[in-house]
Amino acid sequence: MRYSNYFIPTYKEVPSEAEVISHQLMLRAGMIRKLTSGIYTYLPAGLRSIKKVEDIIREEMNRAGAIELLMPAVQPGELWQESGRWEYYGRELLRFKDRHNRDTCLGPTHEEVITDLVRREIQSYKQMPINFYQIQTKFRDEIRPRFGLMRGREFIMKDAYSFDVDEEGANRSYEAMYEAYSRIFQRCGLRFRAVEADTGAIGGSYSHEFMVLAETGEDQMINCTKCDYAANLERAEIRGGDDRFEAGNTPMKPLEEVDTPDIKTVEEVTSFLGISEDQLIKTLIFVADDEVVAALVRGDQELNEAKLKNLLGAQMVELASPELVAEATGAPMGFAGPVGLKTKMVADLAIQGMRDFVTGGNRNDLHLKNVNLARDFSIDRFGDLRMITPKDSCPRCGEEIKFGRGIEVGHVFKLGTKYSQTLKALFLDEQGKERHIIMGCYGIGVGRTVAAAIEQNHDKDGIIFPIPISPFEVTILPLQMHDAAVVEAAEKTYRELLDHHIDVLMDDRDERAGVKFKDADLVGIPVRVTVGSRGAKEGQMEIKLRSESETMIVSIREASAIIEEKVKGLYDSLK
Ligand code: ATP
Ligand code: MG
Repeated sequence: MRYSNYFIPTYKEVPSEAEVISHQLMLRAGMIRKLTSGIYTYLPAGLRSIKKVEDIIREEMNRAGAIELLMPAVQPGELWQESGRWEYYGRELLRFKDRHNRDTCLGPTHEEVITDLVRREIQSYKQMPINFYQIQTKFRDEIRPRFGLMRGREFIMKDAYSFDVDEEGANRSYEAMYEAYSRIFQRCGLRFRAVEADTGAIGGSYSHEFMVLAETGEDQMINCTKCDYAANLERAEIRGGDDRFEAGNTPMKPLEEVDTPDIKTVEEVTSFLGISEDQLIKTLIFVADDEVVAALVRGDQELNEAKLKNLLGAQMVELASPELVAEATGAPMGFAGPVGLKTKMVADLAIQGMRDFVTGGNRNDLHLKNVNLARDFSIDRFGDLRMITPKDSCPRCGEEIKFGRGIEVGHVFKLGTKYSQTLKALFLDEQGKERHIIMGCYGIGVGRTVAAAIEQNHDKDGIIFPIPISPFEVTILPLQMHDAAVVEAAEKTYRELLDHHIDVLMDDRDERAGVKFKDADLVGIPVRVTVGSRGAKEGQMEIKLRSESETMIVSIREASAIIEEKVKGLYDSLK
């Protein structure tokens, strides 16, 4: 490609609309332009990176035995009503009516469409296992689109769906995708980690998020410093026993009412009563599906909504409105407590060993002191309901854990029969018996992967692309376009590299050397080749890797062979 005949609109200023470095650099390096909130045009260089990620994904999905197809972006609301998600998906699902007044939506994901296809086309155990994938544009009306391609509203996703006759088959399909994902992100040149994620009703460790390690990541995760346990924050289990101190045999003190005028928060109550946060119990009122539920956690700990949802087996949990809290407890927000409460009550395990604690009194401006389990109230169900903290230890081996941040670029998930039940995707097994197909789903954010790679690989001058996903592998900079010897040397090397299928950008613009160097650094092409007047006269050119500071002088005659070696070396370093 010749720069003079190409389009990479770079600029120097840091764009004020972009908070994170990858977003800034993608704009400055002329890779993307915003159309409107969360919706971007991929400019030619950006598109090249996107296509390279897609090619790697395609190769690895094919290698793993998945089959490519392409489904529509526009989907009938009817199917979503059938699956039940028309009601549950919320406002990320962009809904509209067609001219016949039929409910329609833009696909944020394709479980409904693929399951509809499979229930029509697959009837026998002989047709499975099968795994379909596509690389397609999704639409999610994200509440806060931001960070460029990282969290867009319209974005490209690779999504795959596996179909199996039994659990073992489904687990094998899952493992195959896990392997494929590890290879994909390895090949993209990313430092990543697969972490356990919440599985909802499925249970087991059949949901992993692939996290690109980056301090600017939106997701928090923990990992053990000794064993290989790693999980995202909402999934991370609490080590059994860590919390359960013995109540001991000291007698319980009598229950006491204390006036706490306008004193509501944990901070206010503890300082007012002169107690520590772990002597208090927070009573949080939730709506789980349609039921009001009280969830109890220790004052110094945080409730984990995903764990609460799983313990209750609910589709959806959300904090109750102030009106509902008042109705359920008889008091305004801030004074709820378990004593005398009529709702269902669940509690975190840490509460089991507590003695003489403080709770809300279910009356305005009232708290209770010396509250005790069993004597004063009872719990319907105990469970691990809280968020992990840096004080906790690894739930597997008990060693120290570390907190970190990451960017979720991929997600593998075992679905079980969730969709095959609602959408009635059945098959006949070997005995001629009708059974539900067992499914899995597997997503990768393509644009987010490019953004995450930049977040991980850049310096003050610009992007340092991992070679497999760089818009170009090599760039040649002839520094004086009026010097025939310079142009000739550059052209010769350019032709030879093209002949060897190297992806090369020839910067044949009539620009100053400084401009060419700056743009090459900004766009981050991994191998830079420079020819200047003096070098050309002496039969020499210069090679430099974007990731290193040293330059190497080579003879023009041998240059293309050495460049090819360098390119190969960069790919090999990622194996
Ligand atoms: P998140 O928690 O970041 O919203 P998600 O759980 O909604 O992600 P999935 O439904 O599992 O994501 O989608 C699969 C993949 O698609 C994600 O791993 C991510 O890489 C990508 N993705 C999801 N939402 C977006 C978005 N708004 N913009 C860009 N990529 C996205
Ligand atoms: Mg999301």
